[in-house]
Amino acid sequence: MSDKPKEYGLETRTIHAGSRPDATTGARNTPIYQTTSYVFDDVDHAADLFNLQTFGFIYSRLTNPTVSVLEERIANLEGGRAGVCCASGHSAQFLAFFSLLEPGDRFLASKNLYGGSITQFGVSFKRLGWEVDFVDATDLEAVKAAIKPEHKALFIEPLANPGGIILDTQALADLAHENNMVMVVDNTMATPILFRPFEHGADIITHSTTKFLGGHGTSMGGAIVESGKIDWAKLGKYPSMVEADPAYHGLSFAETFGDFGYCMKTRCVGLRDFGPAMSPTNAFNTITGMETLHLRMERHVENAHKVAAFLQGHPAVSWVSYAGLKDSPYYDLAQKYMPKGPGSVFTFGVKGGFEAGVKVVETVNLISHLANIGDTRSLIIHPASTTHRQLSEEQQIACGAGPDVLRLSIGLETADDIIRDLDEALT
Ligand SMILES: *Cc1c(COP(=O)(O)O)cnc(C)c1O
Repeated sequence: MSDKPKEYGLETRTIHAGSRPDATTGARNTPIYQTTSYVFDDVDHAADLFNLQTFGFIYSRLTNPTVSVLEERIANLEGGRAGVCCASGHSAQFLAFFSLLEPGDRFLASKNLYGGSITQFGVSFKRLGWEVDFVDATDLEAVKAAIKPEHKALFIEPLANPGGIILDTQALADLAHENNMVMVVDNTMATPILFRPFEHGADIITHSTTKFLGGHGTSMGGAIVESGKIDWAKLGKYPSMVEADPAYHGLSFAETFGDFGYCMKTRCVGLRDFGPAMSPTNAFNTITGMETLHLRMERHVENAHKVAAFLQGHPAVSWVSYAGLKDSPYYDLAQKYMPKGPGSVFTFGVKGGFEAGVKVVETVNLISHLANIGDTRSLIIHPASTTHRQLSEEQQIACGAGPDVLRLSIGLETADDIIRDLDEALT
């Protein structure tokens, strides 16, 4: 699917994969194809497109040439077979599950997830008849005990937002596969630069491209990538992948499209019928952002290490949870799975609890107080007074958002400047 052979390095592929000079104009950069629809050659061509008998562009809810470049680039970087982009990370998760689940189906998910994912799975998916069981995925025995024959997928964040938790992805994938489940991995926090889910057993990867992939805090987006190695018929749990689809003259996505059948189904059914398409402009911004992904991730990690080490020695700080620190319980797993570093989002505890946490976010200057991660700018949030304020204190503590917790997303500024800003606020 890529126009460049696989032996190119990750750095080359972040810049080139999926794109080529525009065939008509020679434009070197990927143009923003700001169009809703595409002219058919003739009626037969149109019929073939609608029947999925030929590939091409019909309508931008399904495919758009700018979005296609991004899809191919992300799939290539992940080492996957195919990808689909959509409006946001949450829509990616919705579409990823829509292609797997029937009403009444259950799946298993790590309890250490982005807060929005916990709500999406636990509250809104329920209304579609999709039931989730949350499990402590840092405890393999607990996962083993929690798996039921009816579970159809295991969903994890290997580098969890926000707690600095690293999961044993390969061991979890083995458990999932022993039980005929696919493993879906949210790789938003690590990106394919820091972590390679398909090399450790993942079957499907989701992304919020809103974060590090776009990288500049400008554009919402999501992506789904499939490994190309899922044997749907053998797993025997996914009728909608295998059985005849009435909307496409009875074709079976697994049989007709083989190793990219899951992405075809996700696009031609999920994206077509629910409509969360990515805008061409957001795709363009994300492509442009991704061209420096490898450089940015390196510096994000370098700065995060410096800031974490500084905070660890600060008298106003009671603890720092960053898997790049030697005394982190996740240090060894981080070394094994993410040798280039465990990202740049982590939490720390400030002495003085809730009031002190509020004081810090209100006193920082350079660091922005807001609810996002993965920007070039350093960001801070006090979960107990914002994202987690609806929860009781016990609930807040249980999900790592106690009154003293501050979350940082370390950006690309001069490390000493970030440190000075924090030092002043803490002091
Ligand atoms: C932000 C985020 C999401 C949701 O993505 P949106 O683009 O905000 O919809 C999912 N997972 C993780 C890890 C995130 O950080």
